[in-house]
Amino acid sequence: MVNRMKIIMLGAPGAGKGTQAKMIADKYQIPHISTGDIFRANIKNGTELGKEAKTYMDKGELVPDELTVRILLDRVAQPDCEKGYVLDGFPRTIPQAEVLDQELTKRNEKIDYAINVEVPDENIVRRMSGRRACVSCGATYHLVHIPPKKEGLCDKCGTELILRDDDKEETVKNRLGVYHDQTQPLIEYYSNKGVLQSVDGTIDMMDVFKGITDILGE
Ligand code: ADP
Ligand code: ADP
Ligand code: ZN
Repeated sequence: MVNRMKIIMLGAPGAGKGTQAKMIADKYQIPHISTGDIFRANIKNGTELGKEAKTYMDKGELVPDELTVRILLDRVAQPDCEKGYVLDGFPRTIPQAEVLDQELTKRNEKIDYAINVEVPDENIVRRMSGRRACVSCGATYHLVHIPPKKEGLCDKCGTELILRDDDKEETVKNRLGVYHDQTQPLIEYYSNKGVLQSVDGTIDMMDVFKGITDILGE
């Protein structure tokens, strides 16, 4: 068993980061940490943090770094993160990556793998309009590619699935623009650190996962 595996998922919104991150978390027994899931849980529970995050998320903009970084650092300081974790949707900007690196350096640690899931923009809008999400347990499905066993209901917990507000076409286009401007530069950032690995995200999800486990090891 690999010790202290710290993994970052990179890729456009809808590339399949969450889908793969959940499988990685299961296989390697490390926590799956999604800043988007943390924000959505806060929105659902009506917290102050949720209210603030929602104003940005609804427009397809990024939640400010200061707020996002604080939440993420709190989360990775929890005891279950000692053996590693897979980050899904964080970092999304160079400053976020820099703060994470500084924190890790203090503890003599580093990111071991940054996995870039590559899917061209043309495929993204189609993927997002078919995405259905469970706000209760965070599971995601696709109407065509990864349908739930019972139409409209989560396989894992039975909750009714929804189309996320920010998965509507106009917002998705905005999110893609934000991705190219602010998040894509992270590919070079992690490439320069020698930890970047890219996989083709357009193929069947199990084949994408095979590519990832080839990288991470058995
Ligand atoms: P997706 O999986 O489709 O890329 P996420 O669930 O990761 O979407 O994120 C949804 C929204 O939450 C983003 O559009 C953004 O507004 C906010 N968000 C999530 N993670 C971050 C982050 N690291 N920095 C800033 N905003 C974030
Ligand atoms: P991200 O976390 O990068 O935003 P998701 O994992 O939520 O992306 O996937 C986006 C949508 O695409 C979901 O509806 C998901 O079920 C679907 N999906 C994920 N991986 C694949 C794949 N390899 N082929 C087809 N559809 C996929
Ligand atoms: Zn569920």
